[in-house]
Amino acid sequence: MKYISTRGQAPSLSFEEVVLTGLASDGGLYVPEKLPEFSREEIASWAGLSYQELAFKVMAPFVDGEIPDDDLRGLIDKAYQSFRHQGIAPLVQTGHNEWILELFQGPTLAFKDFALQFLGHLLDYILKKRDQKVVVMGATSGDTGSAAIEGCRRCENIDIFILHPHNRVSNVQRRQMTTVLEDNVHNIALDGNFDDCQNMVKASFADQSFLPEGRQLVAVNSINWARIMAQIVYYFYASLALGGPHRPVSFSVPTGNFGDIFAGYLAKRMGLPIDQLVIATNSNDILHRAISNNDHSKQELQHTLSPSMDIMVSSNFERMLFDLYDRDGAAIAKLMEDFKSGAMHLDDKALAQARSLFASHKVDDDRMLEVIREVFENTEYLLDPHTAIGVDAARATRKNQDVPMVCLATAHPAKFPEAVQKAGQEEDPKLPHHMADLFDREERYEVLPNDATTVHEFMRSHLAC
Ligand SMILES: *Cc1c(COP(=O)(O)O)cnc(C)c1O
Repeated sequence: MKYISTRGQAPSLSFEEVVLTGLASDGGLYVPEKLPEFSREEIASWAGLSYQELAFKVMAPFVDGEIPDDDLRGLIDKAYQSFRHQGIAPLVQTGHNEWILELFQGPTLAFKDFALQFLGHLLDYILKKRDQKVVVMGATSGDTGSAAIEGCRRCENIDIFILHPHNRVSNVQRRQMTTVLEDNVHNIALDGNFDDCQNMVKASFADQSFLPEGRQLVAVNSINWARIMAQIVYYFYASLALGGPHRPVSFSVPTGNFGDIFAGYLAKRMGLPIDQLVIATNSNDILHRAISNNDHSKQELQHTLSPSMDIMVSSNFERMLFDLYDRDGAAIAKLMEDFKSGAMHLDDKALAQARSLFASHKVDDDRMLEVIREVFENTEYLLDPHTAIGVDAARATRKNQDVPMVCLATAHPAKFPEAVQKAGQEEDPKLPHHMADLFDREERYEVLPNDATTVHEFMRSHLAC
C-alpha cells in the first residue's frame, strides 16, 4: 500500500514511512492510494469478533504486510489492554433506536486513546526495528496531550514534549499530563495561549536543527494517518453489534478537526452500510457553515464549554476535499491557497456530493446544557458536553427512525465538571476509580517563556532516551 499527498507534489510513502511523517513536503496530508474494500459477506463473517480481532481485520489491509500479522496482532492487543471496560467500545441505549458509543473507556477518558494507545506501540515497534530514536512534540488545549503522553510513556525510543498554555487548561486535564513521571515524558507550560503553543510546535517542525544529529520530530496530532486508521474500527464494531451489515446504521460525531468523522466516511467507502453521517459542531461551526451554506471561512475562535472542539480550521477536511475533487491534487492546492486569504468555496459538484454524504448541525452552549439535562432526566445517563452536542445534532437531523442512530461519546463527563455543573448536576461527576487519586498525585512540569531558543535548549538538554 502506497500513501500519497492530497496536494499531489510529494513523494509517495510506505506505511511505516507515513507513520513517521506529519505533513507531506508539499503541505498536503497523506492518504492511502487506494482504499481497501470489504464485501457484505466478509463483514458479516466478523460478527461476534472481539474488538481486537476486528481491529486486525480492518487495519491489516492498510499495513499490507509491512508488519508481520502476528506482530500487528500483538500491537493491537497491547494497545487495548489499557482500556478498563472489556467491551472496549460499549453501547448504551438512550432512546428508541438511539445509542451512545462510549469511546472514553481508555486511560485518559477520551476517544483519542483509541488511536494514541495504538500509535505509541506502533511507533516504538517501527523505531526498534530501525534502531532509531525520535522526539514527539505536540501542543494541546486538553485531550490530545494526555492521550499522547499515555500512549508514549512506556516507549523506549521516544521522548515526548507536550506544550500546554500555562494556567489555561482544566485541572483534570493538566494533572492527567503532569502526573506522568516517566523520564521520557516532558510537560512544558508555555507562558502564552494555545495558539502560541501551536506556533512554537510548527516553527520547531520547520527547523529541527536544534535536535542532535539523527533525531527527528514526529507529529501525533490527527494529521498522522495511523490515528485515522485506528478510528475506523469502532464504526465497524458498533454496526456489527446493532445488526450490520444486514441493515444500515447512522452515526453522529462531535467534530473538531474532522479526524473522527473522516474515519466514519472511510468505513462507509470500505463497504460498511452507513445511512447518515452527522457532523455535530459547537459554536465554532466552520464545517456546518461549509456544508449548509458553502461558507468555509475563518471566523474568530470562540471559547465554549466543549473546549476539545474549539477549533477554527479543521485540518483533516483537506483529506475529504481530496475525494470530493476526484483526487485532483492541483485543485486541492488551489483551494487551500484561496483559504489562506480567509475563505474557500466548493464547486457545485463537490458541494452536492458533500451534502449527500453528510448532514450537519451546530449546537451552542445553552442548548448543549439543556441536552445534558434532558437526557439525564429521562435516562439518568450523564453526557459530557461534547457528546451532548452529538446527541442534539443526531436528533435534529435524523431522517429515519428505523435506522439505529449511534452517537459517539468522545469523553467521560468527569473530564468536564464545569459544564456538568452548569447543566444543574449537584455533584461533580466522579472520576473512575483508577483515577480517583488524580488530585493527590505528584506533578512535574516546566514553566517556560514563549521563546523558541529557551524551549529548544530545554528540549535538547532533557532528552532521556
Ligand atoms: C478531539 C476531540 C473531539 C474532536 O475530534 P476530531 O477528530 O478533532 O473531530 C471531540 N470530542 C472530544 C472530547 C475530543 O477530545
